[in-house]
Amino acid sequence: VFDTLPQARAADSEGPGNYREVVITIAELGEFGLIAAITTKFGDDVAGLEVGVGDDAAVILAPDGRVVATTDMLIEGRHFRRDWSSAADIGHKAAARNLADIAAMGAVPIALLVGFAGPGHLAVEWVLDLAAGIAAECSVAGAKVAGGDTSRAELVIVSITALGDLGGAAPVRRSGARPGDVVAIAGAGSLGAAAAGLALVESGVLARQAEAGLAASPELLDLVNSHRRPRPPYAAGPEAVRLGATSMIDVSDGLIADLGHVADASGVLIDLTASKLAVEPVARPAALRLAASQVGASDWLTWVLTGGDDHVLVATFPADVVLPASWSEVGTVTKGHGVALDGQIWSGTGGWDHFRS
Ligand SMILES: [Mg+2]
Repeated sequence: VFDTLPQARAADSEGPGNYREVVITIAELGEFGLIAAITTKFGDDVAGLEVGVGDDAAVILAPDGRVVATTDMLIEGRHFRRDWSSAADIGHKAAARNLADIAAMGAVPIALLVGFAGPGHLAVEWVLDLAAGIAAECSVAGAKVAGGDTSRAELVIVSITALGDLGGAAPVRRSGARPGDVVAIAGAGSLGAAAAGLALVESGVLARQAEAGLAASPELLDLVNSHRRPRPPYAAGPEAVRLGATSMIDVSDGLIADLGHVADASGVLIDLTASKLAVEPVARPAALRLAASQVGASDWLTWVLTGGDDHVLVATFPADVVLPASWSEVGTVTKGHGVALDGQIWSGTGGWDHFRS
């Protein structure tokens, strides 16, 4: 349907030789045409699926006998802006948030179910780019889109359910951290990057530099890309299981906040070591420092500690663990409650003057 419509309309309205771009909206294409067009983006490789897109429901192979399931919703204006991120970026991010939650249980992502709603005047091309972004992020994680639904709404809404497989292992929960464990992070160079990238976009500083004909620093562009397309370390989830992880979570709300969930669920104190956090390969201090100076932020460690949306994995391991290079030790678990930095209980954004840039 999508392949034939543009030419037909162009011929009707323009006449031969006039190649003015014709934008087809989702209202013009209709729901069934839109679903048919989206489906082409998800491919026909259905490994892991018994029945994929195109029937009343999908049938997904679950050899383990258990299925890991999570769902997450992105709403235009609240979680993304169409003038700040491309459709493909939003697709990548929507998929990544869900796939990272599967990895954070120690599981391998298998399948996504995608709910999409948008205004009738939205270009079909935009929706297809969104679908392509979702499909591309799925292939990074080894998952497939198994089905979905579309509807009309005033704002763009992308609601994704992800399913995963534990492969016979026990799920890694938030409640298993024990005093004496070490805390480690996987997802090299990502911590604080998405928050710094968002601050750069919000400030408009890169747009002003581009208008003035100045080339943006590659380090800053990479931070912006981290905001638009987080890069969760999917393989590190099952790897953490093999390493004997006692608890795990992905960083979506910020390291301190997410470790706070682990500390609460486990009944422990998690003590982070600043000198291990604010360095390569956990974070990118040079890029973060540059971003802070560009947007007028007084310090950059706050992004590392409280920035969300990086979707790195943070886990606790028994003290005698031998961590591979994919995991960086950043702290310890002790008796007590909450999250501390260098032994001081975290109580807000102030008090870290020694890290101001
Ligand atoms: Mg999570």
